[in-house]
Amino acid sequence: MTSNPERKGPGEQDAFATARAQADADLAGGALLRWAQGAAQDYMEGQRSRPVFPDAEALAGLQNFDEPLPDQASPAQDTLDLLARFGSPATVAQAASGRYFGSVNGGLLPVALAARWLADAWDQNAALFLSSPIAATLEQRCQDWLCALLGLASGAVAGFVPGSSTAILCGLAAGRYRLLQRQGWDVGRQGLAGAPRLRLIAGRHAHATVLKAVALLGLGTDSIEWVAVDDQGRLDPQHLPTLDPTCLLILQAGNVNSGAFDPFARIMPLAQAAGAWVHVDGAFGLWAQASASLRHLSQGAEGAQSFSLDAHKTLNAPYDNGLVLCSDAQALKAAMAASGSYIVYSDQRDGMVFTPEMSRRARAVETWAVLRSLGRQGLDDLVTGLHQRAEQLAEGLAEAGFEIRNTVVFNQVLVGLADDAQVPRLIDALQASGQLWVGGASWFDRPVVRVSVCSWATRPSDIQAVIAAFIDARAGL
Ligand SMILES: *Cc1c(COP(=O)(O)O)cnc(C)c1O
Repeated sequence: MTSNPERKGPGEQDAFATARAQADADLAGGALLRWAQGAAQDYMEGQRSRPVFPDAEALAGLQNFDEPLPDQASPAQDTLDLLARFGSPATVAQAASGRYFGSVNGGLLPVALAARWLADAWDQNAALFLSSPIAATLEQRCQDWLCALLGLASGAVAGFVPGSSTAILCGLAAGRYRLLQRQGWDVGRQGLAGAPRLRLIAGRHAHATVLKAVALLGLGTDSIEWVAVDDQGRLDPQHLPTLDPTCLLILQAGNVNSGAFDPFARIMPLAQAAGAWVHVDGAFGLWAQASASLRHLSQGAEGAQSFSLDAHKTLNAPYDNGLVLCSDAQALKAAMAASGSYIVYSDQRDGMVFTPEMSRRARAVETWAVLRSLGRQGLDDLVTGLHQRAEQLAEGLAEAGFEIRNTVVFNQVLVGLADDAQVPRLIDALQASGQLWVGGASWFDRPVVRVSVCSWATRPSDIQAVIAAFIDARAGL
């Protein structure tokens, strides 16, 4: 095509040469990675002395990201500077502030962050043993430890997924597979058209992601048989319809508002006798099993077939750390089955047989690091401590004349005012204080301030400050 004598032959061309030299320089001597580590260290330490939600100036700084995709490469440090200068201030300070009480977000334990950094450098693909022996080994270790911690039958397996949304999807997919297979129907091959009907049963307070999973699985949310709940949001066993072997029953360990647990000890024997499949959504609450004083809450749940659990909530691991646990290993594997000539399964653990994804980062590293470094006693202390702080908050607020609308059995506190109309204004005032962040919810048709105590960093002194902030905010209404 060209007769230019200076032009190199195809085998010698190297389009990425300049950029690679830059990347080599970034790596050499560790300047870039060490800089990032320093910036992260500053960020973690600064969290307790900045507003929990970014202030107006920090939000205005987001305009700095409003640029077209650059035509030319630039030094990596420029990009990281932008991130630290305008990105860090526009974050919600929840990793170590101890004052973020929205959703059920959990903080970030330093050991988990550090383990993640190392694992990120490894850049492992946890799909197969052959793509990452270390990821497979740590997944196996976490699986064994968690099954013991949660009291699951030996032979139960764990899939490491992004979060409980995916874990619920996987648990219900395994149940759908098994219940239909028992009726002679292979849903993976034959699909749902013409399949025997399954019954879906859930308490009225099932989490939004349960509905999402039901929809994604083609089971249809309209088909859910809703069961009445009591004043704490617990499924009321008296209203449970008669169960049979076509039932997928979805229970909850930890109501996302009240923190309440379904009465497993009463429901599980009925489900077992009927041959139903039970999925327990225990995203944050199933960790009660780690606490000797709270374990009674989830007692009986261990008899279920599948479970969803988040290490990124109560365990304070970084995001993207969910788990599906399944006592029927074969059903989960059948529901997640994949094959291809280039997929080389081993006689070791191949993580992708338990998950929807194939390529996955080695997320088990962080869960493993938290479990190992805290140990049984440290895990108990972490979970028990969250409950103690929630009780401290509820007692302090009740003393100050606020209405506590739930029984504080775990980490959730629902706070009301005699005048419902003032609740949204109270929330606005609390958020504007910059000292903490709380969200709102509707609890049996009344507005409440919803406080989720779920960070390792929340100290007794933080709770005192939160109580003072509530009193100040109310005074200003
Ligand atoms: C958080 C939560 C979920 C969803 O989990 P993600 O990790 O956000 O996907 C499901 N159920 C309950 C009870 C939860 O608290």
